Amino acid sequence: MSPPPAHLTALADGPAHLAALADGAPSAPHGSGREIDHAGVERAARDLLRALGADVDSVGLHETPRRMADAYAELLTAKPFRATTFPNDDGYDELIVARAIPFHSLCMHHLLPFQGVAHVGYLPGERIVGLSKLGRVVELFARDLQIQERLTMQIADWLQRELQPKGVGVVLEAEHLCMSLRGVQKLGAKTVTSALHGLVRDDARTRQEFLALAREESR
Ligand code: ZN
Repeated sequence: MSPPPAHLTALADGPAHLAALADGAPSAPHGSGREIDHAGVERAARDLLRALGADVDSVGLHETPRRMADAYAELLTAKPFRATTFPNDDGYDELIVARAIPFHSLCMHHLLPFQGVAHVGYLPGERIVGLSKLGRVVELFARDLQIQERLTMQIADWLQRELQPKGVGVVLEAEHLCMSLRGVQKLGAKTVTSALHGLVRDDARTRQEFLALAREESR
């Protein structure tokens, strides 16, 4: 097996990069630290279209390589954000859950989109984070070549690392075009993944409460 591309390693094990975000330092231009070679993508897209038997000089396709490069760049770039955390001065000790955060990503096996919703929750410890930031964390990891399981874990691990909460729960429900348009061809079939840490995993009441909140959305 070949080693993962450098940017994926940096994302997966990149506490330094992510810690910088948490400290309110300006974040990297791309969420993953990725640099996209726009001209290179355009050339490759033209070659791909040719290999697919398309006439890339025709009027309809002439601008397509550039549009493809634009589209991939957008799909793979997260908006930079500052994940400022705050001390939990009021000692809030119930679950904080952001439900049904819409997201889309690109499946790393087929480069086809998968999209759905994320339910992200944590049981606060010393620090809390703005609710809107939970959506930005989802986007940070979703704008990448991904598999759903890894995306789920990366979101949960980020929260665990940055907030040191008493528990974390992440549930993702998504439809994968690579599954619904080809192969098994089950339109609308959802893949559900979850990552639970701490009391959300180990305490039955908290776990039930979180999963009930996550399940409500899928009905
Ligand atoms: Zn796929």
